[in-house]
Amino acid sequence: MTRKAIIVGAGIGGLAVAVGLRRAGWSVTVLEQAPELQELGAGWSFAPNAVRAADALGVGERFREVSVPTAAGSTLRIPNGDYLMRFQPGRDTPLLANHRADLQRVLADQLPADVVRTGARVTAVDQSGQTASVTYETSAGTRTAEGDLLVGADGIRSAVRRAVWPDAPGPVFQRILCWRGVTEPGFAWPDGGPGGFQTWGRGARFGAHPLTGGRVFWFLTVRQEQPGVRYGDNLAEVRRRVGAWHDPIPALLTATPPTAVLCHDIFDLDPLQTFVNGRVALLGDAAHAMTPFLAQGACQALEDATSLSAELDRASDLPAALVRYDGDRRARTQMVARMARQDPKVSLSTSPLTYGLMTRLTRLVGGGIANRKAARLWEWSPPITSAS
Ligand SMILES: Cc1cc2nc3c(=O)[nH]c(=O)nc-3n(C[C@H](O)[C@H](O)[C@H](O)COP(=O)(O)OP(=O)(O)OC[C@H]3O[C@@H](n4cnc5c(N)ncnc54)[C@H](O)[C@@H]3O)c2cc1C
Repeated sequence: MTRKAIIVGAGIGGLAVAVGLRRAGWSVTVLEQAPELQELGAGWSFAPNAVRAADALGVGERFREVSVPTAAGSTLRIPNGDYLMRFQPGRDTPLLANHRADLQRVLADQLPADVVRTGARVTAVDQSGQTASVTYETSAGTRTAEGDLLVGADGIRSAVRRAVWPDAPGPVFQRILCWRGVTEPGFAWPDGGPGGFQTWGRGARFGAHPLTGGRVFWFLTVRQEQPGVRYGDNLAEVRRRVGAWHDPIPALLTATPPTAVLCHDIFDLDPLQTFVNGRVALLGDAAHAMTPFLAQGACQALEDATSLSAELDRASDLPAALVRYDGDRRARTQMVARMARQDPKVSLSTSPLTYGLMTRLTRLVGGGIANRKAARLWEWSPPITSAS
């Protein structure tokens, strides 16, 4: 008999686990509160662990097609343009950058049209019977859906987590503000190698990744003591802070439409005791939201989706399979989240002493440190499944 999963959230985690569970023979329904799968968001980068997860989900080829290699993980500069570390082919591994909307489309294209129900906001969870069921609001009224399994992939402010883990603490503000933007198409990187760089200022970090179509995704993170601080003109504020930094930062800002600039406070989550409860499993940011400083949040969501699908592939005992998923994922994701919380304590420090030490050390031994740190994060292999 076909088993059925209800997945809450059509972000990268929800869509990826929908793809994985369908490959494992499950019937899936994804409930998404947004009225449609919008072309929202900016860009992001993916490390080799995420690409392996995409391969295991059967979408690796399409993933590569919408992605561009980026040297930003190992090209580190300071505001006057000097290099602390330069990407070296053969020594450094390029990451893959893509636009969030492109990756979302790759995953959604794997699913039959009726799998994702948009305009469906989940408000309650019930697993008192033999199934897990949710109540959700639509423009046509209140509905319910039920399945053998419920996956909460509904992000850092997860309604599923609140309903099933009522005592879990909420998101924690990490005293960081982040702007992101995407340029118009047609930007040409100066030299022939992979584009992309990061620039470390004191208490501010700028980064840029190439995207398909000659677009560039950039971000600026800064120290900010209070959440909720906003600016009338985000692009003007970014320009005020980094507009005099080295080339091509001014040109990237000029090529960015003001409406394409997003501004967010950065929160993460304290560790949960478990990611599963009965027939309910959490995945992605709902389980372990982390700061973006290691660029691993979405990578870990892809790993989660691969692991959960593998555990549920042919599993006859669902609760036992979910316990194995929890065992497989919790220690690793919480280690990454801990590192991602720790990183900006140093890298975004406003202290001249810390900044001076950090830049000097990076200039001296940056490649070695970065490669050791990356190896710890990227060494992950997908579990074997019947679809492998
Ligand atoms: C500034 C920034 C930069 C980042 N850069 C990177 C990067 O370079 N690399 C990387 O790997 N990660 C990066 N991340 C992290 C990454 O964005 C997240 O980890 C990832 O998007 C999490 O995916 P998710 O599917 O778990 O959650 P989300 O993307 O948050 O998706 C959750 C979905 O659930 C829906 N939803 C919420 N509540 C409900 C409800 N009640 N009912 C129905 N639907 C609901 C939402 O509308 C949303 O579509 C970055 C994060 C930030 C903030």
